[in-house]
Amino acid sequence: MAGLLTSEPRPIGPDLTVGPLAFGCWRLTTGDTSEARTLIETALDAGMDLIDTADVYGLDFGGSGFGAAEERLGAVLAEAPHLRDRMVLATKGGIDPPKPYDSSAAHLRAACEASLRRLGVDTIDLYQLHRIDLFSHPADVAATLDALRTEGKIREVGVSNATPAQVRALAAHLPVPLATTQPEVSAMVLDALTDGTLDLAMELGLTVLAWSPLGGGRLLVPVPGPEYGPRPELVATLDRLAEREGVDRAAIALAFVLAHPSRPVAIVGSQTLERIASAPAALGVTLERTDVYDIIEASTGRELD
Ligand code: NAP
Repeated sequence: MAGLLTSEPRPIGPDLTVGPLAFGCWRLTTGDTSEARTLIETALDAGMDLIDTADVYGLDFGGSGFGAAEERLGAVLAEAPHLRDRMVLATKGGIDPPKPYDSSAAHLRAACEASLRRLGVDTIDLYQLHRIDLFSHPADVAATLDALRTEGKIREVGVSNATPAQVRALAAHLPVPLATTQPEVSAMVLDALTDGTLDLAMELGLTVLAWSPLGGGRLLVPVPGPEYGPRPELVATLDRLAEREGVDRAAIALAFVLAHPSRPVAIVGSQTLERIASAPAALGVTLERTDVYDIIEASTGRELD
C-alpha cells in the first residue's frame, strides 16, 4: 500500500489478530439493546473486530452507572450470541470509583469476575489494567493476571495509561508477553509519540490501542474554549489533506494515528452509524512523511528544526 499506512492485521498476543480500526464502548450508554446491537454489528461489518469496553464505562455520558456499558454489550451478546465469535472482546478493570486505582489481587479478581458476569462470557480475550495502581507491586499484579489467565478467565493481558517504566515493570514479572498498551493518541495529543510509549511498544512487540483518536471529537466539533480545542492550523492542515485525498477530516485524523510505524489500532468512539460505517475510508488515505510532519507542526505550533 502506498504511503505510511498499512492495513495489515495487528496481533493481540500470539493467537489473535485484529484490523486497524476498533470500536470503543465508552459512549455506549444510551439507547436500548436493539440500538446497541445495530451499532456493534455496524462496527463489526466495518472491520472493527476488537470491541473495547471497561467496567467503569457507564459512569459518563448519561449512563446509568458503573458496569452499564458492559451490561449493554452483554445484553447484545445474549440476544445475538454469534457475534461473540466475530469479535476480540477487550475490557478493563482496576479502577474502584470513587477511589481511583486498585490492582490488589482481591480487587482485580473480583473486577474481572464481575466483568465476565456482566458480559455473559466465559473468557475475556484481552484484559487491560485501566490505570496503573501506584501502590501495587508489579510482581503481585502480574501474579494475579497470570492466575486469571491460567484459569481461562482472560486470554491476553494489556495495560492502559501506563508510562513506559510501568509497562517494563509489569512485563518483567509477567510469565507471558504483555499483548497491548492503550494510550491516548491523536493529531492533537502527541505525547505517546515522544515520551517512549510507542517506542517501547515497538521494542517489546506490544500492539498499541490508540484511545480518542479524534481527540474525543474535539478535532471535529467546536469546543467551549480555545484551550480545549485543536490549533486552527491543525484543522486547516487536516482539511487540506482531506480535500486532496477526497475524504473527510475524521478520515485524515484516523489515518495520522494509523500511519505510525508501531501500527496502532485506532479505537473509534462514535456512536453514529454513518460515522462508524465511513471510518474505513481512513484506510484508503495516502499519507507521506511531509504530511505527517505537517500535521505535527500544525498541532504543536512549533516548526521542527
Ligand atoms: P473519538 O473517536 O476520538 O471521539 C468520538 C467522539 O467524536 C464521539 O462523541 C463522536 O460523536 C465525535 N465525533 C464528532 N464528529 C465525528 C466524526 N466525523 N466521526 C467520528 N466521530 C465524531 O474516541 P473516544 O470516544 O473519545 O474514545 C474511543 C474509545 O477509546 C472509547 O470508546 C474507549 O473504548 C477508549 N478510551 C479509553 C480510555 C482509557 O483511559 N483507556 C479513555 C478514553 C477512551 P458521535 O458519537 O455523535 O458520532
